Amino acid sequence: MAFDRFGRNINYLRISLTDKCNLRCVYCMPEDITFRPRAELLQDDEIDRLVHIFAALGFHKFRLTGGEPTVRANIVDIVGRIARTPGVETIAMTTNGLMLPQLAEPLAQAGLQRVNVSIDTINPEKFKKITRWGDVEDVWAGIEASERAGLGIKLNAVVVRNYNDKEDVVDLARLTFYHDWQVRFIEMMPFGDVADFQQAGVVSEEELRETISAALGPLSPVNEGALDGEASLYQLEGSMGTLGFISSVTQPFCASCTRARLTADGRLRLCLLREKEVNLLEPLRNGATDQELTDIILEGIWWKPWGHGLQQNVIPLNRVMSEIGG
Ligand code: SAM
Ligand code: SF4
Repeated sequence: MAFDRFGRNINYLRISLTDKCNLRCVYCMPEDITFRPRAELLQDDEIDRLVHIFAALGFHKFRLTGGEPTVRANIVDIVGRIARTPGVETIAMTTNGLMLPQLAEPLAQAGLQRVNVSIDTINPEKFKKITRWGDVEDVWAGIEASERAGLGIKLNAVVVRNYNDKEDVVDLARLTFYHDWQVRFIEMMPFGDVADFQQAGVVSEEELRETISAALGPLSPVNEGALDGEASLYQLEGSMGTLGFISSVTQPFCASCTRARLTADGRLRLCLLREKEVNLLEPLRNGATDQELTDIILEGIWWKPWGHGLQQNVIPLNRVMSEIGG
């Protein structure tokens, strides 16, 4: 088992499979971003080896993300290999959904259980503006394909002031009246190059709840307000689904954090909002044994940071979100 010095048991790994993406969301990456050469990224067998090592350390929950995980070559095979790893119980993916019409079924067959599909607005023009060129109809097709394939579905919306913080969040929340989905609203977080834009655009959970309840009626806490992962859950009266609020900036959930991240270039990132990372790619390629890699991972996790420094204006500058894996 992997513990940090604060006694937190870390057992959830988010793996960024690629820094590449078929969209360019304004809060995530600059339009002219340069992606890393493929050789600098973890190769399929390197991912496989690290997943075995993490699983042996008690990691049982895995999420594939990016960049856009579905643009990675061999994605179905990668999912299958992770799903077959002893100790792996849950395997989910965060995706923009564009490739799901083709991939939902084979991914489900390979062992994927859930998808979190990012959809910041159901308004086609605004969707195009936020993603710089995406078509929201393609995301809907992906969500429908996921339902047909029997995948669990959550929708993720990053809320950006003056883009989607009013009628768009209401439209998204309204979906829970008719669908058994969790629609989650994520506070925008500041990273790297796009930090200036982001800080001005953060919309708090409280403000969002007020906007939604003014339009759709009262919101009641689910499970007496206990966190579901990182989300506080609410429900609209008479709805089938739930609303989740992920407020990493204004209400950090560090005490209950169980996660670590593996970046596409093989760094163990201990906290999304802190620059501290441990290089696993180098020892992996220099012939380290499983025991040596295990020791490096355990040592890194021991020093996992507590809390972000956003209030003190400490912003992670070394990477943008797509490189870390959201
Ligand atoms: N491409 C996939 C997607 O969009 O779902 C997976 C990777 S994306 C980086 C993972 C999640 O991070 C998405 O839900 C995205 O909206 C969110 N995200 C990206 N930039 C963010 C930011 N600056 N603050 C908060 N969430 C962000
Ligand atoms: Fe791509 Fe996801 Fe980032 Fe949007 S949020 S640019 S879909 S990686």
